[in-house]
Amino acid sequence: MNRTMTALVALVLAVPALATTPAPPPTLEQAADRALSTDMHAWDFVEGITTEVGPRQAGTEAEARGRAWAAQWLKQRGFQNVAVEPFMMDTWVPGDIARARVTAPFAQDLEVLPLGNSGATPAGGIEGEVVFFRTVDDLRAAPAGSLTGKFAYISHQMRPAQDGSHYGFAGPVRWVGPGLAASKGAVGVVIKSVGTDHHRNPHTGGTSFPAGIDPIPAGALSLPDAENLERMFARAAGRPVTLKLEMNPRQLGKTESGNVVGEIVGRNPSLPPVLLACHIDSWWNSPGAFDDGAGCAIVAAAALNAAKAGQPLRTIRVLMAGAEETGLWGSQAYSDAHIDEAIAVGIESDFGADRVWRFDSNFRESNPALHKRIAAAVARLGVSSGTEVAGGGADLNIVRDQKGALIDLQQDGMRYFDLHHTPDDTLDKIDLVQLRQNVAVWTQVVGILANEANSILTGGPIPSAPPIMQGK
Ligand code: ZN
Ligand code: ZN
Repeated sequence: MNRTMTALVALVLAVPALATTPAPPPTLEQAADRALSTDMHAWDFVEGITTEVGPRQAGTEAEARGRAWAAQWLKQRGFQNVAVEPFMMDTWVPGDIARARVTAPFAQDLEVLPLGNSGATPAGGIEGEVVFFRTVDDLRAAPAGSLTGKFAYISHQMRPAQDGSHYGFAGPVRWVGPGLAASKGAVGVVIKSVGTDHHRNPHTGGTSFPAGIDPIPAGALSLPDAENLERMFARAAGRPVTLKLEMNPRQLGKTESGNVVGEIVGRNPSLPPVLLACHIDSWWNSPGAFDDGAGCAIVAAAALNAAKAGQPLRTIRVLMAGAEETGLWGSQAYSDAHIDEAIAVGIESDFGADRVWRFDSNFRESNPALHKRIAAAVARLGVSSGTEVAGGGADLNIVRDQKGALIDLQQDGMRYFDLHHTPDDTLDKIDLVQLRQNVAVWTQVVGILANEANSILTGGPIPSAPPIMQGK
């Protein structure tokens, strides 16, 4: 070959080499922007788990299938150190009978579902007069023993709110109402569902009974049925309103649940990791698309997208907690098992799939530079900087126990309580555009945190030894 030919061959041989030169990784901003328009990781997760697994009641074989499905998904997407960490829990199941019927003065059936931890009625049901409480505070004020042999009905005035804050006002009707009624002698309780829709779907959810008080049958009426019952009281003109309730939930005793964990291992794995949390369980009556399939989808997608900008400095750990709904069992088990392993910062997604609109942290004052950097980075995605002190979510017990750094990415809650804990919590309610905005915001935030060299809570240098853990 002459020199020209040699040069030509060399050029031809060089072309494939040039073609296979890897493109530089995107910047974090580019990775977040791509998530905003094209992310399919989150959709694939929530579509997959709702389709292939469906409802995932805590402590049951259905939740175990959910765990196995999620662990496999994480492995297939390249997460490392994927594991299921089992724990034992007290498991309640709803049974297969839930009937409520007003027997006088206007006989008709009402749509009802048992609340988590509800007691059972005798076979064939139990009948009694209903005492109407407009609020849970009215029930609190009822004299001891005044409900002996009777049902309590508890109402409330919950409204949609962007920050979901009305859950805090109405929630006690479900959380403590049944226990209060039981302590005053009631044979059963029905509540107006803690929700904001007007479909004939009762909203279930957990309740609890004080120590020494035996659980009584406790059910949620759909909002239209609750309003119907209230109209009956208005038209009864002093005549007693009587109800027959039949439900057969039961406690199974101790059964196994578990947390699913997986990691994107950082360049310096000895640094405390960034912890992203969600919960894998749902109530039995829905496939849990909003609550909390979407949350697990968002955190897993954010970890994957943040890593597209290059291996992060810190490890990103995903915690898909088990058994959140029936009492934060997985969150507590994770804290108990890992309390001595410092976490850099925790964030949870458990409020559906609608857009993120506000960023809060608990280090706005102790580390203002980092707070401002994150606020500036998410502003272009339509997220404002809040002034609330982030408290983290239910699955971040470990971070609270460590008194560590927390971020809340507040999602739009205007329709969350239309769907919450109802059979309507299904995949079709998820808006892909809003889901992607969530993932983009999360990608941006997680990427910043996972590449932060300083201590996140204080902004100072990272101590060489793990920080001393505060008492639990
Ligand atoms: Zn949830
Ligand atoms: Zn829930």
